[in-house]
Amino acid sequence: MLILGLESSCDETAAALVTDDRRILSHRLARQDEAHRPFGGVVPEIAARAHVEALGPLIEAALQEAQVTLADVDAIAATAGPGLIGGVMVGLVTGKALAHAANKPLVAVNHLEGHALSPRLSEPDLAFPYLLLLVSGGHCQLLLVEGIGRYRRLATTIDDAAGEAFDKTAKLLGLGFPGGPAVERTAALGNPHAIPLPRPLVGSGEPHFSFAGLKSDVARKVGKFAPEDLAASFQQAVVDCLADRTRIALAKAPEATALVVAGGVAANTAVRAALTTLAADHGLPFIAPPLWLCTDNAAMIAWAGVERFALGLTDPLDLPARPRWPLDPDAEKVRGAGV
Ligand code: ATP
Ligand code: MG
Ligand code: FE
Repeated sequence: MLILGLESSCDETAAALVTDDRRILSHRLARQDEAHRPFGGVVPEIAARAHVEALGPLIEAALQEAQVTLADVDAIAATAGPGLIGGVMVGLVTGKALAHAANKPLVAVNHLEGHALSPRLSEPDLAFPYLLLLVSGGHCQLLLVEGIGRYRRLATTIDDAAGEAFDKTAKLLGLGFPGGPAVERTAALGNPHAIPLPRPLVGSGEPHFSFAGLKSDVARKVGKFAPEDLAASFQQAVVDCLADRTRIALAKAPEATALVVAGGVAANTAVRAALTTLAADHGLPFIAPPLWLCTDNAAMIAWAGVERFALGLTDPLDLPARPRWPLDPDAEKVRGAGV
């Protein structure tokens, strides 16, 4: 089985060809950092325009590199949400047009399901159920992944997402955009124990997250301490929160066969190190995708397409794009659901 995957929900435009035996025949990606840098964050209108320009050539390049044509693919998988609606529409409409023109089925993929299943692309032995820490630019959740389309959410953030906290801290420290990698690089030069910072919700019995108070405290301390020490102390605080909250979730999900992390913040070395230790303490394997598969890409969308198509799950061509689309059915009920 061969699936073409398309991704355009935020500020990465991407196309990839992936097989059901986990071969990534090609994956192409265009970033928009230069376009958004003057604004210190992603500007939705600029992002949507950039997706329009980039997507067609990326698809052509991906097909060429894989030495296949549209006639060879079994289905087209496109991100249908959640995300910036203009961008999501560009990828979804393109996917629909290709599906119609080539007479192929469309698989509408939830971007979060793309992140959630990405570890199964890189790790063939990863079986359900697994405990997933999903840490990205817009989400911070602990989910028991029971199967395709079966996600039981154990926790979410009551304010900011972890990636959002990294991005805001980068802005406060004048480290530029995108923020996460910049904070990590700067933190490497500082002392993670130099500055006492809060660890919101650490010690509480429910595994939810909160990062707004941490960010505000960083804001109060900017200019009073070396940026390297602030970055390092901030990163340590986030790592401590993620590890503590995940530990609580593990206790609530004894059926989990592995501890898994996915999403852009999973690219952070300190985060991966803390979770490696935590998993070992619980006698569980720790699974994290390679760094490039953590941040947004189309290979994970193609892979989610593989998993869904294998179950016969396809979607009609009049399917709407969804700016909000929680993975679990109960999400809308929780305050600040983070979706
Ligand atoms: P979502 O998936 O929730 O819709 P998104 O697609 O924008 O949001 P991702 O692309 O998965 O998010 O991840 C981007 C986020 O990951 C950004 O907030 C970025 O700062 C963060 N990030 C990327 N690399 C690192 C890193 N090395 N350390 C910390 N954070 C990082
Ligand atoms: Mg991005
Ligand atoms: Fe993402």
